[in-house]
This record gives sequence, structure tokens and C-alpha cells, in this order.
Amino acid sequence: SNSSSQLAQFIDEVPNFPKPGILFRDISPLLRNHFNATIDALSALYTDEDWKNIDTLAGIESRGFIFAAALAYKHQKGFVKVRKPGKLPNVHASIEYGLEYGKDSLHMQKGDGSRILILDDLIATGGSLQATCKLCEEVGYNIAGLACVIDLTHLNNFNYNGHGVRSIIQYSD
Ligand code: 5GP
Repeated sequence: SNSSSQLAQFIDEVPNFPKPGILFRDISPLLRNHFNATIDALSALYTDEDWKNIDTLAGIESRGFIFAAALAYKHQKGFVKVRKPGKLPNVHASIEYGLEYGKDSLHMQKGDGSRILILDDLIATGGSLQATCKLCEEVGYNIAGLACVIDLTHLNNFNYNGHGVRSIIQYSD
């Protein structure tokens, strides 16, 4: 494997989690030891000019919340949740999607027309991000960008209406 950041050494590789044959990339040591550096590295994926054109940070439940919330605080933006079923009141729209380990759905409240940056910990096939992009537009946001800590680049070539995904760490196998 191959990566682009000093932070990559703090990702644990856990074989056979959560199922046999899966190599899980665990961000726990990174969060524990280098939380500020991780948030700053995500922040630096976008220029000051880019940040002026972002109004709202969306986090995909649950690890996406960590990064979207910290970036919202750092840049004084709003934070919204993209939630799994049964957690969110006042759901405006939901979307079903196939993910790496099964099937699920995501839910959001009504948007306000603002420009949204979507965060998750990791992109594998891109199914979660694809569904989130569609859902954000359906509830009434304009997509400003997509970012993750880790991109498993061999599993996706993600693009949503010209928006690629930016990441701190990439693995190509
Ligand atoms: P995708 O929808 O892109 O196939 O899968 C990405 C989603 O599954 C993300 O929400 C991510 O949290 C989770 N995921 C899949 N594989 C891993 C992994 O190896 N490590 C971590 N931390 N999350 C994973």
C-alpha cells in the first residue's frame, strides 16, 4: 500500500474486521494522538477562497460527524447530520443505498439552499458519498465539495457532477 501523509502511520490495519476477508482501516489511533493535525490537514484540502464559498458542513453518521463538526467550529460554519434510520426527527427525505457491508439508508432534515461540504472518514466504493450527494440536493443544499480522511482509490473513481473527493491519505491496494 501507498500513502501521501505522515498521518498515515497512525491508521491501524485490522484484518478480518468486521467480517472475514476485510482489511479495516481504523482511524482510532489517529484521532487519539493527532486530532488537531488531522482537522488541519482536512482544512488545508481547501483554500481560504474555497472556504469562503462553503456555508455548511455535513457529516455522514457516525465517523463523518467528528470531522464535519470540528471543521464547522474551526471555520465558523453550520453543521448538519446525515443520519442512519430511526435517529432523526423531522426527516425531509431519505435515500437507500448499497454499502460495502450490506444495505442501509440515510436521512436528512430540510436544507436551506446553502453550499455544503460533505465529510466522511473513508471512501471505499463511494456508495455512501454518492447517496449523500443525491440526498443533500434533494433536501435543498448545493454541493460545494466532498472530503474524507482516507480514500481507497482502487475501489472508486468518485465523481459527482464534477465534484471529486479530496483526501489526506490514499491507499491504492
Ligand atoms: P463506501 O460507501 O464508500 O463503500 O464505504 C464507506 C463507508 O463505509 C464509510 O462511511 C466508512 O466509514 C465505512 N468504511 C468502509 N470500510 C472502512 C474501513 O476500512 N475503515 C473505516 N474506518 N471505515 C470504513
